[in-house]
Parts: sequence; structure tokens; C-alpha cells
Amino acid sequence: MTNPATHDGAAASRVDAESPLQQLRRQLHRRDPAVLIDGGWRPCVSADTITVDDPATGQVIATVAAGADADIDLAVAAARRAFRDGPWPRLPGWRRAALLHALADAIEARAGTFALLESLDAGHAIGSVRNGDLPLGLRALRDTAGWATKLAGEVPMRPAGQPGMDYFLREPIGVAGLITPWNAPFLMVLQKLATALAASCTVVVKPAELAPLSALWLGDLCRQVGIPDGVVNIVTGRGADAGRALAEHPDVNIVSFTGSTAVGRSIMAAAAHSNLKRVVLELGGKSPVMVFADADLDRSAKAIVDEIAFKCGQYCAAGSRVFVQRSVCDALLVRMHAAMDGIRIGPGVEETTTMGPMISAGQRQRAADIIGHSLAAGARVLRGGQARAGSGYFFEPTILTDVGADMRISREEIFAPVLNVTAFDDDASPEAVAALANDSRYGLSAKVWARDIGTVHAMVGLLESGQVIVNGGGSGAVTLPFGGVKQSGYGRENGQVGVEHFTEIKAVRLGC
Ligand code: NAP
Ligand code: MG
Repeated sequence: MTNPATHDGAAASRVDAESPLQQLRRQLHRRDPAVLIDGGWRPCVSADTITVDDPATGQVIATVAAGADADIDLAVAAARRAFRDGPWPRLPGWRRAALLHALADAIEARAGTFALLESLDAGHAIGSVRNGDLPLGLRALRDTAGWATKLAGEVPMRPAGQPGMDYFLREPIGVAGLITPWNAPFLMVLQKLATALAASCTVVVKPAELAPLSALWLGDLCRQVGIPDGVVNIVTGRGADAGRALAEHPDVNIVSFTGSTAVGRSIMAAAAHSNLKRVVLELGGKSPVMVFADADLDRSAKAIVDEIAFKCGQYCAAGSRVFVQRSVCDALLVRMHAAMDGIRIGPGVEETTTMGPMISAGQRQRAADIIGHSLAAGARVLRGGQARAGSGYFFEPTILTDVGADMRISREEIFAPVLNVTAFDDDASPEAVAALANDSRYGLSAKVWARDIGTVHAMVGLLESGQVIVNGGGSGAVTLPFGGVKQSGYGRENGQVGVEHFTEIKAVRLGC
């Protein structure tokens, strides 16, 4: 098996004549389709494969293994052995933390390659991967590494003079299944891996079929930095095969899933029907943005457009329903137009691109269908609204108005660079504005733009959301727990609470 995870500098000196992109493409073609089980790459049991394409051209860039039930069985058995008999859960926290830091260092040393790989595979603008996903992922890894030495139980105070002691311990939950989506493939795998490993669990990763490559390269690095065999197993494959098998597996203790609400439901059902494994669900969103008349309109317009252009709208927390106070609606729209004029659409791997393609023809068609349905119901296109002609899955940045609360565009996660803009009355109360925002089955991330501190506090209290971002406060704070309420899921990613999901509590009552 070839090992393409070479250091950036070493690779550059070997093949001077080739551009980094050409080198990468060559390495991808050379890589055999394989799954990582018990420290070794091997073909999947069926030898079936899946081709992976470049969403900017539709051309095949790699072939990966199509793992299924038998591979998941082997991977779970390896993870169980590593958990039950191996060194990993027995290492002191600082040793596990050191390995997570070593993994972060190894990724950082190859940051250029990882950025290119992710951009090619998922289509995202390379600048956004280099300055967004990668540093965020590294921060998640390093921050979470710190929790490996800080997980603890508690000893409650007892009445004076009462003999004995009560306390609770935290223990790793066991084998974790990590199922990730294609829209931020590397970041999602890194976050889940970091939290599970910090808690001493062993894992089986099932990356998304449409963008599995960065996870495979990460597997190479896990081996190189010395994470023991069987601790990290990676099985590429189709969701209905490998993903389902992992969710149903009777020897998996937790599934941490990021993806659509529909699949989240099936994961929960599989957990219920198998062994009642714990599930953490990070699901979809239809996030509201509220712009009040006293807001900084230049900043808010730019931030709203930047966020919907980020990953071509394929970002779970993207604000896609914009509610703006009527007296500043036109002024905001003018600024949003100007910001959209500045978007440079192109292949993600080109440095000048600020918005890449959507992930697939199917996702793009779905977005067009939702828009078409909503136009037929009376919505209006202010700009965009269409796919771009030619190869690749490009879509125009779009603004819709006259959008009804019951239209598909208001209710469904579109996962495309499409904003709905609706004005609310100048004298609307915070309760009335929050009611507009809360009129969704989702509750992942809400954004508020207002200078008046009373308005801000009122909105923070009223919004049904796992996250509230005020005046553009960074949404990428990986040290804060992230997750949703309502049908955006439950459980939180990152931070202490994120790591604690991967632990069990054992209560002890000591008599004397
Ligand atoms: P998806 O279709 O739900 O797939 C997510 C993962 O689940 C993929 O690895 C998929 O495999 C797998 N899967 C599919 N069917 C399965 C089944 N029956 N059992 C077990 N696993 C199965 O989601 P996606 O289209 O990849 O990603 C987009 C969605 O993710 C959006 O809804 C977005 O909002 C959400 N998301 C949420 C967050 C968050 O933190 N809340 C972050 C990012 C994305 P295949 O790839 O082979 O289908
Ligand atoms: Mg791809």
C-alpha cells in the first residue's frame, strides 16, 4: 500500500516539475481502495469500490473501498480488542494528550496538502479551507487534547460525622462509531476523533461517500504518530451499507453522527432496535438572521453574504432566513447585492475563488426544485436563482423575497447559496421577531445584529437555538459546545460536554 501522507516539504523536493495539485492527483490515482482496520490498510471484504469525483468538473479523482457489514464487523471487533486489551484506555491522560498534539503537529506540517485535498474533494474555496476548516480542526484537536487530563468525577459533601463516602467516576464509554457528512469532512472527523480519543474510547469512522479523502489521509497520520493499532479504524462505504451497519451494531457503545435530520432519525431508530447505544446527533438547520435598524448594516450585510457563500451554502449553521426591520430593509439589500457582486465563483482549488461548486448534481437539482416550488407559490427572485451552465455543480448566489412562512424555501434546509429576505414591522416587539425566527423545526444557530443591548439580551433569551451569534461573534469557536435544539439534534460537539458524551458515570457508595 502506498503511503501518500508525506511531508509537504519532502514531496516538493521530490517532484519539482509538478504543481502541488498535479502531485496530489497522481497520489490519489496511485492510492489503492482500502479500509483501515487494526492498524492495517486492506481491501474491503466485497472488494467493491466507489468513485469519488471533483465537484468542479464532475471528473473522477479517486476510488475508495465500499465497505459494508462485514467490514464494520471487523472494524468494531478491532476497536473492541483495542479498548478491552490494548494500551489506549490504560495510558495516562497526558500520554493520550501528547499523541493528539502529535497528530495536530503532523497535520499542520502537511497543511498545504490537506487544504488542497479537501478543496479538490469537497469543492470548497481553498482559502476558506486554509483559513477556516484547517485551523479550526487543529484548534479542536489541541483544545480537546487538554480534556484528556481533566476528566473527573465528583465527591459530594456529606453531613458532618456521617461515615462512608459517596462519589462518582467517569469511565470511557467504549467503542464509538463516528459518522460524518461531506460538507466539512475534515473538520467533522477531527472534532469527533478528538473528543472520542480524549475520553479514551476507540473508534470506527465512516466518512461521507461524497468526500471521504481527507479522512483516509488522516488515517495514515494516526498510524505515523503512533496511535496504537485498532484505536482508529476507518471504513469508507455507502451510508445505507457501512453507516447503517455501524448504527445497528450491537457492540458499539455510542454513535456520534453529523448529517441530515432524516438520517439522524434512522440512526436513533437503529440504536433503539439494537443495543440502546447512546447517540449524539448534529443535524440540519434553517438558521435565522435578525437585523435590527440600529445594526451596523455594512458589517451585517457582508457577514450574511460571506456565510451563505461559505461552502456554497452547504454549511449547517448558515443563516438562510434573513428578517430585517422594514426601515433598513432596502439599505441592507443594496449592501447584500454589493457583497454578492464580489463573490468569485470557480473551482475551489483556484486561489482566486471565493465560492466553489456544490457537492453534486443531485444536491444542486434539489436546490433548484425548492426554489422553483417557492417561486410557483409566489416568492420572487431578486438575483441568481439558477445553476451555472457548463461542467461542475456551480450555483448562482441568490436572494429571494416575498417568501411565505409555509413555502419549502422557508421550511427546508436548502444547503445552497440562497438567502430569503423578509421585512418585519418597525414597531415589532422582540417576542414577535423571535416568533418569526423560531417558526422552524430546526434550532441550530441564530444570528442577531443590533446595537441596543436590551434588544440583544431579549433576543438571546427568546430564541430557540443551540447557538446565538451576536454582531458577527465568531461561529467557529471550537472551545464552545456546539449543537442544536428541536430537530437540529441533541448532544453537543466540542468542549468539556462534548468529551463527556464519550464517558459513562459510575456512582459508588462506600460504607465503612
Ligand atoms: P447525510 O446524508 O445525512 O449523511 C451523513 C452521513 O451519514 C454520511 O456519512 C452518510 O453516508 C451516512 N448515512 C447515510 N445514510 C445512513 C444510514 N441509513 N445509516 C447510517 N449512516 C448513514 O448528510 P450529508 O448530506 O452528508 O450532510 C449534509 C447534512 O449534514 C445537512 O443536513 C447538514 O445540515 C448536516 N450537518 C450538520 C452539522 C451540525 O453540526 N449540526 C454539521 C455539518 C452538516 P453517505 O455519504 O454514503 O450517504
Ligand atoms: Mg468529492
